[in-house]
Amino acid sequence: MLTDKTALVTGASRGIGRAIALKLAQLGAKVLVNYSGSAEKAQETVELIRAAGGTAEALQCDVSDFQACGELAKKVIAEHGRLDILVNNAGITRDGLLMTMSEEDYDKVLDTNLKGAFNMIRHFSRAFLKQRSGRIINISSVSGVLGNAGQANYSASKAGLIGLTKSAARELAGRGICVNAVAPGFIETDMTAAMNEDIKKKAVEQIPVGRIGQPADIAEAVAFLAGDGAGYITGQVLCVDGGMAI
Ligand code: NAP
Repeated sequence: MLTDKTALVTGASRGIGRAIALKLAQLGAKVLVNYSGSAEKAQETVELIRAAGGTAEALQCDVSDFQACGELAKKVIAEHGRLDILVNNAGITRDGLLMTMSEEDYDKVLDTNLKGAFNMIRHFSRAFLKQRSGRIINISSVSGVLGNAGQANYSASKAGLIGLTKSAARELAGRGICVNAVAPGFIETDMTAAMNEDIKKKAVEQIPVGRIGQPADIAEAVAFLAGDGAGYITGQVLCVDGGMAI
């Protein structure tokens, strides 16, 4: 159980982030539901948690904005006194082939997916160090583990997140803070909804368990890493991908 814990999930207005927020709340954590532009969807996540008897509130912040993340961290610590679980889930894609990928598409993806996680860890690390406890879980991707044609920017950001995870794990372990990454495979969310049926069918053929994953599959792994039972696990990458990265 995560009773008396406060958790912040970035990008929790939809998809995997929402499922993680619901799961952590179901286990008793007070959940701060971060979003960038989807205020209504974030409020929907909050209402779903409240309807199930949990505690949640929505917090707007663009994770790629260093200063805004600093202000968010200050607000969270002032209002809640501490943060126990930080899930860096916010992420975007701007797919394209290397030869034609724009500088803007490269930068936007790196700024959101990789720098966004750095921004949050950077601004919350003082509170974590002071508490001498904490869990940081970064949502990477199978694309960061294996690479993926047409996703050089995204794969670089997700591989970078693995390096960030391992370095932060080494730096913070002595103070009781565990830092791990979860690498989802092909999960059914808005991010993958735009793919055409043919590509989806081909993708399923690459998944040994033979099905597309659900956001709840990822939430279960995050809940495990956030729980008391995972206190001796740090610097790891847990692939939750139906076997794609075997
Ligand atoms: P999604 O449905 O597109 O949702 C993305 C979430 O990120 C939304 O809540 C969005 O908030 C938020 N977000 C985007 N930019 C943000 C920013 N600058 N600041 C704060 N929040 C921001 O995506 P998803 O499929 O659930 O993916 C969640 C994470 O899992 C991502 O990191 C993704 O790379 C990773 N992942 C997904 C898959 C997959 O197959 N779906 C596979 C591997 C890894 P708004 O609604 O406010 O824009």
